[in-house]
Amino acid sequence: MKTLVGDSKRYLDVDLTTKAWSVFSPSENDLRDYIGGKGLGIKFYYDRLGKRLKAVDPLGAENILIFMAGPFLATGAPCSARFAAVTKSPLTGIMASSSCGGPFGMALRTAGWDGLVVCGASNSPAVLRIDEDGASFEEASELWGLGTEAARARLVDNPRQGELLIGPAGENLVSFANIRSGHRFLGRGGLGAVMGSKRLKAIVATGGAYRIEAAEPERFKSASGRMRKHVLRNDFSRAYRAFGTNYNVRVGVKAGFLPVMNFRDRTDPRFEALSGEAMAERYNTRHSTCAPCTVLCGHKGRYPDGTTRHIPEYETTGSWGGNIGNWDPDLIGVWNQLLNDLGMDTISAGVTFSWAMEAAEKGIRKSVLAFGKTDNIGELISDTAFRRGEGAELALGTRLLSEKYGGKDFAIQVKGLELASYDPRAGWGHGLNYAVANRGGCHLNAYLIGLEALYNYLDPYSTRAKASWVAFMEDLFDAFNSTHTCLFTVFGTLLETFVPKRTPKPLLKLTMTWLPRVAQALLDWSSVSDQVAAITGRNLSGRDFIMAGRRSHVLERYMNTEMGVNRSADVLPARFLDEGETRHPAKSVVDLEPMLNEYYRIKGYDGRGVPLGTTLSKLGIETE
Ligand code: SF4
Repeated sequence: MKTLVGDSKRYLDVDLTTKAWSVFSPSENDLRDYIGGKGLGIKFYYDRLGKRLKAVDPLGAENILIFMAGPFLATGAPCSARFAAVTKSPLTGIMASSSCGGPFGMALRTAGWDGLVVCGASNSPAVLRIDEDGASFEEASELWGLGTEAARARLVDNPRQGELLIGPAGENLVSFANIRSGHRFLGRGGLGAVMGSKRLKAIVATGGAYRIEAAEPERFKSASGRMRKHVLRNDFSRAYRAFGTNYNVRVGVKAGFLPVMNFRDRTDPRFEALSGEAMAERYNTRHSTCAPCTVLCGHKGRYPDGTTRHIPEYETTGSWGGNIGNWDPDLIGVWNQLLNDLGMDTISAGVTFSWAMEAAEKGIRKSVLAFGKTDNIGELISDTAFRRGEGAELALGTRLLSEKYGGKDFAIQVKGLELASYDPRAGWGHGLNYAVANRGGCHLNAYLIGLEALYNYLDPYSTRAKASWVAFMEDLFDAFNSTHTCLFTVFGTLLETFVPKRTPKPLLKLTMTWLPRVAQALLDWSSVSDQVAAITGRNLSGRDFIMAGRRSHVLERYMNTEMGVNRSADVLPARFLDEGETRHPAKSVVDLEPMLNEYYRIKGYDGRGVPLGTTLSKLGIETE
């Protein structure tokens, strides 16, 4: 095995139209300014298509699909199995990125490649194979139509390989089709449909040619050890390790962020059957995670029918549980497996189904779906993937359906992306997070519900300091997403360091609420930025790190504004602005406008939400 120090600086450029490939390297400036992963992927997209962003058809051959490793991959850094994809989304019509911890990233990086740009479109179904020598192409007509599990069994035959696959949903251009790697998913924004439009069934990378070493091994060991210690002692890391992300369910019953019947309500005691604690007992769960991982949130378990299944993530449980009036966890496990095999995002699919249920109840669109009716869900999931019958329309997602039939006020989406199972009436800052997130209604833009309802540092029913925290967390999350350590490490990394650990919680809460900039200055993410510097050998301070996150976040926003996004798109579904009465004792609607004004000011955007020229130039973003 050969040794590679830091990043390889080698990226593959693959053209599916001509079946040709070449190698390119980014500039040293871009590697310093954008680090890698999602951030550098956004820059690549802008460099290639920035002049005609609006004209690019997401499902046309001109669109490009970029897969990016981050510098942490294959180094043994905590939770570092993850990689990202970047493209223009067929679901939202703006930029989309998604990350996951499947085996593809590790195989790509240990084959000596830091990323891959896929251009053009094949005439017929194809598989792209990658190894240390480059790329090759295979005819794949016999795989077209297969589910992801069957296709994987035909394509992957040794443990050094890692794959990306689409199912029938991607082939049939379902707008929320996903891409699978192992049992992890590039889930959001319809990336699977982009792969399907290129008639690319799979990419299989064969790794194991290179061992990745840090440029400064001792500094890396020290920084990764610090980060691991912080992550391991964090309460939520420990809870996710024991019960998976469904640990959020019991917290959500109390805090009132659970989706009930298309978010008409936000709490219900029947959710208890869907809690992580209940599932751990019912399915005798054990770990099944990305590798390597420090948190270990993923689980699998034995279902009553004797089948071993992956336990659905919290967001899937919410979308296919109370959100559609189902309280049977076994059914969610079965549907989750079906959705994964057919290749669809569980969040967007679940919320599209719940919209159809409410629309039928209100008499604005006929449907065979109804809240609490579970016997036809499996069939409708399949019909959606194959675009049959009513499924052909469900494949469009909530935004297009509500534009066609009406019912926009209860279409639970922002910019076309359906919301995950966190009702923003339980945390107004999380509402701002959804409204301004670059990829649409994304819970992982700043995940403010964490500070508002999981850790209880900020009053959920207040606008105070929320814009500041959303802006700060966006920068930080995008910086983390340039390394591709898992976002579940963020709170441990921030809150288990010296100052927050030693500060009494009431005092910390006061500082975070009344002096957010001071509180942010006291937080310490140097264990992560030091690892980037140690791996790559580039000088990078904690401030440089967060500025890299801000740079890629603002560049992505600028690109979206070039595609028509402005203040009128930074909204929430009317349900969260008007309907305050729920079964939760706190009456609440999100007070969005004042937070939005403050947020634009802090970010350096004008009143329409467009980044100012001075903001772009301060960040070194060239737009001409
Ligand atoms: S915490 Fe969960 S999502 Fe994150 S790397 Fe580990 S298993 Fe994957």
